[in-house]
Amino acid sequence: MALVVQKYGGTSVGSVERIQAVANRIRKTAQQGNSLVVVVSAMGKTTDTLVKLANEIASNPSRREMDMLLSTGEQVTIALLSMALQELGQPAISLTGAQVGIVTEAEHSRARILQVCTDRLERHLNKGEVVVVAGFQGVSSTEDFEITTLGRGGSDTSAVALAASLKADRCEIYTDVPGILTTDPRLVPSAQLMSEITADEMLELASLGAKVLHPRAVEIARNYGMPLVVLSSWSDCPGTKVVSRLPQPRSLQGMEIAKAVDGVEIDRDQAKVALLRIPDFPGVAANLFGEISNQSIDVDLIIQSIHDGNSNDIAFTVVNKLLKQAEAVAEAISPSLRSSPQATAEAEVIVDRQIAKVAISGAGMIGRPGIAAKMFKVLADAEINIQMISTSEVKVSCVINESECDRALHLLSQTFDIDLSSQKEIIANQYDGEHPPVRGVALDNDQARIAIRHVPDKPGMAASIFSLLAQKNISVDAIIQSQRCHVIDRVPTRDIAFTVAQTDADFACKIIAELNEKIGCGDVSGDKAIAKLSVVGAGMIGHPGVAAQFFAALAQEQINIQMITTSEIKISCVIDQTEGVKALKAVHEAFGLGGTNQVTVGG
Ligand code: ADP
Ligand code: ASP
Ligand code: MG
Repeated sequence: MALVVQKYGGTSVGSVERIQAVANRIRKTAQQGNSLVVVVSAMGKTTDTLVKLANEIASNPSRREMDMLLSTGEQVTIALLSMALQELGQPAISLTGAQVGIVTEAEHSRARILQVCTDRLERHLNKGEVVVVAGFQGVSSTEDFEITTLGRGGSDTSAVALAASLKADRCEIYTDVPGILTTDPRLVPSAQLMSEITADEMLELASLGAKVLHPRAVEIARNYGMPLVVLSSWSDCPGTKVVSRLPQPRSLQGMEIAKAVDGVEIDRDQAKVALLRIPDFPGVAANLFGEISNQSIDVDLIIQSIHDGNSNDIAFTVVNKLLKQAEAVAEAISPSLRSSPQATAEAEVIVDRQIAKVAISGAGMIGRPGIAAKMFKVLADAEINIQMISTSEVKVSCVINESECDRALHLLSQTFDIDLSSQKEIIANQYDGEHPPVRGVALDNDQARIAIRHVPDKPGMAASIFSLLAQKNISVDAIIQSQRCHVIDRVPTRDIAFTVAQTDADFACKIIAELNEKIGCGDVSGDKAIAKLSVVGAGMIGHPGVAAQFFAALAQEQINIQMITTSEIKISCVIDQTEGVKALKAVHEAFGLGGTNQVTVGG
């Protein structure tokens, strides 16, 4: 007999018939001798409807009242599903998050789970009852017992948190597609089902826009090694397994807040090649990285920040022994860039051997803007200048001077409480077995890009900017500090660009503009008409050519790349929003991910 946690999303419980169908499925699993905890979402589009209703009453409703309102959606479903089970003769009881004891921080609309009390659940399970729990909601740990919600899509997180706390045998997420696909089948009908994916890959995909799983659910599954599977509510197909490496033992207390950073890495064996003032038009990155890949040179970080007039800079890092070769390729290409009709300024190649990469990583960084800011602050306080920054939701990498490497490592491990003896210096290929270079592609249309020009190139600047955003609770993704250097009033400056949720963009621009007056940066501009397109695959490590193929697919469609940022297992490009879906289709196709088997969406 197994203990199983199942979660059914909004579409799966969207009507009376669907609730009855779900009840039948649950009944069948229970009759096979399993104990069951079932987590449900609000019916259909209920949550969206409630949000609209609130917006008709208030332009900026309080987060507390929003939680009060939105949590009602799930409460309807648990009662109805429980009734449907009882109608089938299956003993069942519904419980709200507070009744279970899903204890969260008192942070309305984005609360993190601190712990899940299991006593009451176990009592009901022992009586042979199916326990139906309201997803997406919890109760604050404060004495007021506030109702909190976990953030949109958070029922997945409720389910995995319950499974981990109950030490369930597995957690099954039932939804309106047959599992995790190579991309969103609503946008690309040729998307194919995958039988499995690593938790690290899914974490990247989920935080880059693949909303089939809430990223925090993947984080908990990974941290506690919880077997997780995503499958269809209307078929018996096996779905997609999310596989985790064997986790380090971890307390269930402080579940989502205990350790935001679980690794500090340094890589001394890095050298930087930068192409400055190259023309900003489709095909330049494809051409450069195509040549690099022809020579089998594996690049690590690739960073392209915002354009400057009609030109741009691209910087990338390679291991030291490949520097000469990479430089030769860049030098060979730059004359053709200079003579191209779009050329506006002198393209130039610079190299630097004296660099190192220092990175912090951990899934707990998702949605916690203070972590990257803290890293920048630690480096700033130690007078360590950050030359380039590249971030993903789960990793922040900074290029610094090699001579500062040991100090940076020491300070960061101290700050984030990382035991260095358990860390490998370079976490190179930590993914055993065969993995495709690209597992999936995700498009995020809900981001905006903010650019700050002419930020003085001295320690502390990134720290001031991102600490301020963190204080205002604005989550930042894809921070890119460019290579380009402008000297203004004899002070060297660089541009910093990053992406934020569209809803935060105006506020972020406003507070940075205010800060600018104090720290002396140039213009701040926001652009909401962007899309972020990302390819993810554990097999891209040590597999030169993935970036080239990605950029070439965009170039072929004449799509200009506005920014590039990479981590070990993903490459993201910021492009014009109107070209998002076209780009997604082209890139999905270019990596051979499409198939002729069309999956059913929506049941
Ligand atoms: P639920 O209500 O069951 O939680 P969601 O709407 O949150 O369902 O998530 C399922 C949806 O995620 C699918 O209908 C699909 O459109 C979308 N999606 C985006 N990316 C992917 C992907 N890579 N694989 C599968 N579905 C995806
Ligand atoms: N009902 C909530 C939402 O729509 C939570 C969920 O479905 O996961 O965001
Ligand atoms: Mg969902």
